[in-house]
Amino acid sequence: MNAASKLVIRNIGLILSGMVEKPLLDGDCLVALDGKIAGVGRERDLDVGHPDTLIDARGTALAPGLIDSHVHPVIGDYTPRQQQINWIDSCLHGGVTSMISAGEVHLPGRPKDIVGLKALAIASQRWYENFRPSGVKVHAGAPVIEDGMEEQDFKDLAEAGVKLLGEVGLGSVKAGDKAKQMVAWARKYGIQSTIHTGGPSIPGSGLIDKDVVLEADADIIGHINGGHTALPDDQITCLCEQCRRGIEIVHNGNERAGLLAMRTAFELKQPERVILGTDSPAGSGVQPLGILRMIAMLSSLGNVPAETVICFATGNTARMRGLDCGLIEAGRSADFALIDRAQHAPGKDMLASIAQGNLPGVGMTVIDGLVRSQRSRNTPPAEKVPELVKAPAAAGGGGH
Ligand SMILES: [Zn+2]
Repeated sequence: MNAASKLVIRNIGLILSGMVEKPLLDGDCLVALDGKIAGVGRERDLDVGHPDTLIDARGTALAPGLIDSHVHPVIGDYTPRQQQINWIDSCLHGGVTSMISAGEVHLPGRPKDIVGLKALAIASQRWYENFRPSGVKVHAGAPVIEDGMEEQDFKDLAEAGVKLLGEVGLGSVKAGDKAKQMVAWARKYGIQSTIHTGGPSIPGSGLIDKDVVLEADADIIGHINGGHTALPDDQITCLCEQCRRGIEIVHNGNERAGLLAMRTAFELKQPERVILGTDSPAGSGVQPLGILRMIAMLSSLGNVPAETVICFATGNTARMRGLDCGLIEAGRSADFALIDRAQHAPGKDMLASIAQGNLPGVGMTVIDGLVRSQRSRNTPPAEKVPELVKAPAAAGGGGH
């Protein structure tokens, strides 16, 4: 590995912190060392000398890289669900720098016996740890729990490096009491859990209603707005009110129900619980701009400032999921999206254009302090685009 590498981003027009309690930060400059944020604020107050990578943000906004809290990857940058390649690279062009698997359920011939599902989870965790498509961090290896699993199985999984459960309810465990026991075993060994909420997603999956969700007590109320079919409104508000778990709203769900869940979180004064995902690949396809679309939808139809909604897809998720990215503060991973108002979008500035329902344009992404993409091939073109003034001399090609 190289000696300490330094990244400087100057002329930042707006800093989006990812912190829902304070979504905007003062400053125009950020310095990162060895892929971690070292300082943020005014350029005159920071040590900006001798960078290996220098970015002139040209007045664009710096946000933490977006986190998709709910994806269904299988292997590499290929999904069998819709027979697409390079879908993760396409999401990077939508500003997504981290993804969290809710189960590698689309693997053809997915093993459902216990030793087989454990082997798959361990292998998935490894292959995404060893290979990051276009630099995107894919947190995968999320087993779908099945009847007959015992405490030792969760201990084995944790010891082998598995940190997530796939959506509870996609396997044979659909009853609240059984799910509760297994979620508790997972938690005991440090494995995070999420649960499918709502009607069946595809033939073969089943209904998980609010009573099962509350009894199972998984860490995340997975797609509270359905994946695709939502629960009745009174069950959604009840889920928000009767537990303190994460309220995950997904693109491939019911948009009206998503707005209801978000509004309920605000009524409860618990906006820090709201996190965003796409639940893609799925029957609805792959949405490279899905997280940006969620941000624009929730901000515009829900009348929530864009800078706050962006926190749902960054800091909220990072805090809830224990990730080291998602917030602009010293020590965090230098994972960013540089964005600006789309060309010809209405609204006095980028935040106003998002609040009117328009997507911003992505001009650059950075992961671990390295530039991974420049002007997005997928978003509407941004008015202003950052310039990569200096890049490391012998870059290893990125993507590793
Ligand atoms: Zn689901």
